[in-house]
Amino acid sequence: MDPMPDASGAPDPIDRPVVIALDGPSGTGKSTVARGVARVLGYRYLDTGAMYRAATLAVLNEAPDLATTLELGSAPIGPVRERVTAIVASAKIDMGTSPDEAWTRLGGDDVSTAIRTPQVTKAVSAVSAVSEVRSVLVAAQRAVIERGPIVVEGRDIATVVWPAAQVQVYLTASADARAARRAGELGRPADVAAVQNDLVQRDTHDSTRADSPLSVAAGAVTLDTSDLSVDEVIQRLVDMARKAPAHE
Ligand code: C5P
Repeated sequence: MDPMPDASGAPDPIDRPVVIALDGPSGTGKSTVARGVARVLGYRYLDTGAMYRAATLAVLNEAPDLATTLELGSAPIGPVRERVTAIVASAKIDMGTSPDEAWTRLGGDDVSTAIRTPQVTKAVSAVSAVSEVRSVLVAAQRAVIERGPIVVEGRDIATVVWPAAQVQVYLTASADARAARRAGELGRPADVAAVQNDLVQRDTHDSTRADSPLSVAAGAVTLDTSDLSVDEVIQRLVDMARKAPAHE
């Protein structure tokens, strides 16, 4: 992929394929930052959380009776696990990788909005704790990543999906800052306490599951975004990418 010219019209100095892995809990500004970095560098962008959400939507569409069990957040076992696995294995999930138009499709339908409902958010940790689900989605993620320069956001990108990523950043922020941001995104600015409760529960499930828990990769730089503006975080990541070694 050719590097995009910057605002001055000069070509971006990066002409080597680089994978930028951006991990961390919800509400740290990961998506906004990932898309911003991809735009500046002319890279593609992959939102792996949207893939787990699409898989969860497939399960809720085909097996609405599982909603209550999945809301518990931990990995389902026995027949529930088997049903979840079978549905996700046959689901057709496609992702747009332009940072300006990052759509998600399920069975050919655009589900970019449908994957953000509270029902999907409540069930997603349980679905993504199923190892068979992760195998399917990680294989799909690797197939996208190996096509060239990309910014990938998720929970396990540097630890599991692409440990060779030249830039590995773990974004954090205080629980208060994360809840305030997420409440703003959801259009519920007065609801910070409830949003914080949901976030903490989801992070606990994502960090304590047996398969690929949210954790900081050995080679990752941790960046606390509580007191940084989006532009400041983007600039730091762009600087790291400019210093990154070439793709092996
Ligand atoms: O990033 P987002 O909050 O949309 O992710 C939704 C959920 O998908 C997370 O809470 C987590 O359970 C799961 N996820 C994951 N691994 C990733 C990305 C997301 O397990 N790489």
